[in-house]
Amino acid sequence: MIIKTRTKPLPLTKLESAIPRLSPQFPALSAMKEDLKKRWKGYSGELQVDYHLGNLATSCTILQDVYLRVNGKNVQIDTTANAGRSIHLIDAKNYSGTITFDTDLKQLTRSDGKIEAGFEYPLTQLENQKFLLSNWLQQHNLSNIPIYYYVAIADPSTIIKVEGDRNKIAKFVAHGAAIPKMIMDKERELARAGQPKLAQYQIGKMILQECGTFDKDIMKQYGVTRKDILPGVICPDCGLRGIERKHSGWWCSKCKQKYYNAHLKALADYFLLVNDFITNTECMRFLQLTSRNTATRILKASGLVYIEKHRHWVWRRL
Ligand SMILES: [Zn+2]
Repeated sequence: MIIKTRTKPLPLTKLESAIPRLSPQFPALSAMKEDLKKRWKGYSGELQVDYHLGNLATSCTILQDVYLRVNGKNVQIDTTANAGRSIHLIDAKNYSGTITFDTDLKQLTRSDGKIEAGFEYPLTQLENQKFLLSNWLQQHNLSNIPIYYYVAIADPSTIIKVEGDRNKIAKFVAHGAAIPKMIMDKERELARAGQPKLAQYQIGKMILQECGTFDKDIMKQYGVTRKDILPGVICPDCGLRGIERKHSGWWCSKCKQKYYNAHLKALADYFLLVNDFITNTECMRFLQLTSRNTATRILKASGLVYIEKHRHWVWRRL
């Protein structure tokens, strides 16, 4: 059973919202675009691996995107699968070309035929995740639970090479499609060895209760201030910013078409990048409206909640 499903990571959503609202001259723009590309690749790799791990849903309690605080540190695990007798951690990696694990130097390199790049060694990362999760379990009076980990290579066309101990890597690293069988084999081995059964669902619920949401201050990282976020409703088709309010819709002069709900995305951008509340005046500025009444009508119809005391609107929260 999957008790926690993956959603699009906040830093990715923020980058997607911010980039079209920055001046083309903004200094960090190209770095942000590069970051967005990498985050998309990572996220789509996670989704690809989720597809294969779905095969475990009948026998395991699965949590996607686990984010816990342990010993003053945050630990982020792509997927945990609580099986009959142990917990399995799965980290998705999305690389194109050929990747090489060097077991002596503990390094991972990727080559796309032209450029070679180095990455953090996934097994060290996972060893750390295992250590922190095992600490967390102990703190919740759950000791002696075996934890295993795997690196799931998302893209089936990625070639995996090893320098050094091939058998060691084969125990931990495989393409996503092969991971469920590795987990089931391990479970059978544990059953034969007499490992007691795990309260997999209850443990899953406990983890779920304490899971936070991963976020990163993208604005601070790239030096984006609220003033840098350019206003205007963006055309959902061509991306033109500043489309015009006309007869209860938004008219894009480039597409020659009217969009009725284009302001919803603009309001979502505002809450994500500018502030967690909006006033009528700010709404007029951000949506580039000339009428106060139109702004009020839009705010009312957008599912926002009006806070009388502060005379502002918040995002479906009281
Ligand atoms: Zn357009």
